Amino acid sequence: MLGMMMDTPLLVSAIARFAEKNHGNQEVVSVTYDNPRHRYQYKDAIRRSRQLANALSRLGVQPGDRIATLAWNDHRHLEAYFGVSGSGAVLHTINPRLFAEQIVFIINHASDRYILVDPLVLPLLEKLQDQITGVEGFIILSDEAHMPETSLPGALCYETLLSAETDDYEWPDLDENSASAICYTSGTTGDPKGVVYSHRATILHTYAITMPDVMGLSCRDSVLPIVPMFHVNAWGVPYAAPMVGAKLVMPGAKAGDGETLQDLIETEGVTMSCGVPTVWLALLDYLDQSGKTVSNLNRIVVGGAACPSSIISKFNDQHDVYVHCAWGMTETSPLGVYNTLRSGQENLPAAELAALQLKAGRGIFGIEMKIVDANGKELPWDGVAFGALKVRGSWVASGYFGLDDNSDTHDASGWFGTGDVATIDPDGFMNITDRTKDVIKSGGEWISSIALENIAMGHPQVAEAAVIGIAHSKWTERPLLVIVAREGEPPTRQEMLALFEGRIASWWTPDDVVFVDELPHTATGKVRKATLREQFAAYTLPETSTDG
Ligand code: AMP
Repeated sequence: MLGMMMDTPLLVSAIARFAEKNHGNQEVVSVTYDNPRHRYQYKDAIRRSRQLANALSRLGVQPGDRIATLAWNDHRHLEAYFGVSGSGAVLHTINPRLFAEQIVFIINHASDRYILVDPLVLPLLEKLQDQITGVEGFIILSDEAHMPETSLPGALCYETLLSAETDDYEWPDLDENSASAICYTSGTTGDPKGVVYSHRATILHTYAITMPDVMGLSCRDSVLPIVPMFHVNAWGVPYAAPMVGAKLVMPGAKAGDGETLQDLIETEGVTMSCGVPTVWLALLDYLDQSGKTVSNLNRIVVGGAACPSSIISKFNDQHDVYVHCAWGMTETSPLGVYNTLRSGQENLPAAELAALQLKAGRGIFGIEMKIVDANGKELPWDGVAFGALKVRGSWVASGYFGLDDNSDTHDASGWFGTGDVATIDPDGFMNITDRTKDVIKSGGEWISSIALENIAMGHPQVAEAAVIGIAHSKWTERPLLVIVAREGEPPTRQEMLALFEGRIASWWTPDDVVFVDELPHTATGKVRKATLREQFAAYTLPETSTDG
């Protein structure tokens, strides 16, 4: 017997329709190339995304065509989220900070027909134009008054394009399994791989992330996604905020600027925000220096990389902001787990609570996870055993765009191998201990580089820390701590090593500490450990190395 319920497809355009009717007067505020504080309401955003859909259709864009964006977080990018996906085309968000050859590769690989480009990114695209010959046209995200000079052939002005269109547009009834967006992973090796989101997965992920034990988003929130809209759809916030009617505040190209962030938070009543650790460190530095605070903010989400404990303690103790860690990947839309305490856990002794809050988080319904050993055998959720993390669920990629064989990443039962190594405790809190490639193998045992980095980051004079394995004749590998010190008196080697005493098994202690001016980073701000390992390939550890 079949259920007798309406089969309403789960579509991105359904969020647009709902937001326009139900949250039409809620504000959307952005910093843009041509306006330091643009503001309008959801009803304007959705009306204009219908004009964009009309414009794209006039340009001959068909369902399934890829339309790329090279843009920051602002209202025009939001319009593209709905105008492009809602019309059945596929939104391809590109990270302008990728290496030029990666950008060329993914534009060509996705066969993008048009590119919507922020004027600030224009010089980059101009340099690449000879290599992306399949692109039919460029739409510059500007009004006529601010249109920059460009060598891009036939570049169109976004505002002029929109003003020629009516907002009379019926969102098409698409198959909910059709593609809504595509985002390439920026792996440190090999070509980038395209993750293709469907409308259905996007809607289910959006429902999930708004739940109270996840982001807990509501129409009473003012949300500032600092995480870029090209980094896994800004973790879903551009869909979730209009779905629940939260005010949306977007920092444009100023996402790394502490002063702009603090000002937006204070003046736009921001209650919730999300970003990678680097932006929080920049904001905390600015708050320290300026003596200012973030009085409206009550919670933030830290993801994309392990969260240093100093972010949690500083936000909590100095600014009364609760920090939620979260884990996810491009392949998981991205949210996979989220750290919210269970009832009673807030009364744990301070050190236990701090350790718990630092974990990546608990499962979200819709995603299953497990950890397995080298033979694929499932490991217990005891908080001690660590193994390869596998996930599966409604918003996890089943493969990659244009790649027929997914046997490298997916097993026969459909579990996706994340490439992360993790523990899961009896309360279901998962914690990432490493990338599979970064784990340090010492004497047949594993050492978590992330655990060591967290401790090193606890020193007030340490700006950034990375731990890598250095080849060792007896132990296979031993940990080397690489540090970027803050301005002022740098910490000593002895001081750094003393930090580890009593906090980890003594054999985990790094064998040496080196100071560098900077660490190599990926386009999403993560430490590029493969490059760091190459830099230290010839490094010899001191003789005193752990010999017992
Ligand atoms: P991306 O696909 O660029 O978003 O990168 C995903 C990867 O970032 C994951 O596979 C992890 O290695 C890392 N990552 C994300 N969140 C966390 C976290 N909370 N702790 C540690 N690593 C994380």
